[in-house]
Amino acid sequence: MSAPIFDTISFIGVGLIGGSMARDIKAAGLARHLVGYARRQETRDEIEALGLVDQVASELADAVREADLVVLCVPVGAMGQVAADMAPHLKPGAIITDVGSVKRQVLVDLRQSLSAANPIVGGHPLAGTEHSGPSAALTGLFRQRWCVLTPEADTSILALEKVRALWEAMGSNVEVMDADHHDKVLAITSHLPHLIAYCIVHTATGLEAQTQEEVIKFSASGFRDFTRIAASDPVMWRDIFLNNKDAVLEMLQRFSEDLTALQRSIRYGEGESLQQVFTETRAVRRSIQDAGQAGTFDAREPEAMPLSLLAPYASD
Ligand code: NAP
Repeated sequence: MSAPIFDTISFIGVGLIGGSMARDIKAAGLARHLVGYARRQETRDEIEALGLVDQVASELADAVREADLVVLCVPVGAMGQVAADMAPHLKPGAIITDVGSVKRQVLVDLRQSLSAANPIVGGHPLAGTEHSGPSAALTGLFRQRWCVLTPEADTSILALEKVRALWEAMGSNVEVMDADHHDKVLAITSHLPHLIAYCIVHTATGLEAQTQEEVIKFSASGFRDFTRIAASDPVMWRDIFLNNKDAVLEMLQRFSEDLTALQRSIRYGEGESLQQVFTETRAVRRSIQDAGQAGTFDAREPEAMPLSLLAPYASD
């Protein structure tokens, strides 16, 4: 057991990410008391049955009143409303963090209603699965995975270091980054791949019935992998695309140009160009393996990607 880093931590939203954090924090004794809030009775019953937190709250006010750290684990598009509803009930000095997959818009939405007495440390663990809800929570989900922290320009060092200490105690490697930079990096490593997966599976479902049946019957690993990613939570991903619009559209533009180039190579039989591209991409996979991020723990792969591979975007 480690020494507690916080007295009371409140999770607003106890699904895959909030529940997984709660499991690790509880197991390692990183807080004295854990509170979990969920909107629906059904979710609260599930959290209770799984014993993820010490106290389950049905009202936001009750959930945050004693909190030293509030972790927002709801879909990105719900963060602003949750912050507005809980703001009057927070202790001065309570640190607010989140796990949202988009960072700039969330920081803006939170600051709109939170007072300066509550420091904000944006956060995003690059680990997850395509499953949702409290029962999807896993022990050790964040071990040896990156967690990006995006403090505001004037966030106190103390608040940042306490949040960093929490993630490091859960086994994460922490990188502190500007929110805009985070959004650009994640647009290419996570958001665009999900969009492509959603699109391929959608295209396959639009084929005539007989072909569709064959797609399912002969589904080789390529298509199967896409269906796993495309099974990710629809609300979560709707919110990600709506809240990281500019960065996703920029990466989509680059992707479309490269796709057109590949299309031309196929049309004109330019085997050498195709082979050159495929050789380069194979090297990327090797770098991921060398960086220890290929994931034997397969369920955690969707949002995992070593930041070191993103050097081309580091200066954006
Ligand atoms: P999840 O498993 O669906 O859990 C979401 C939780 O939020 C549930 O407790 C849900 O409870 C509650 N909730 C949903 N909408 C709400 C609203 N409008 N107001 C208040 N509570 C609400 O989701 P998750 O996968 O943990 O994702 C949570 C956050 O983590 C998202 O912002 C996502 O971008 C980020 N994230 C996800 C992954 C991933 O791979 N899944 C990875 C990294 C970061 P009720 O159903 O009772 O409302």
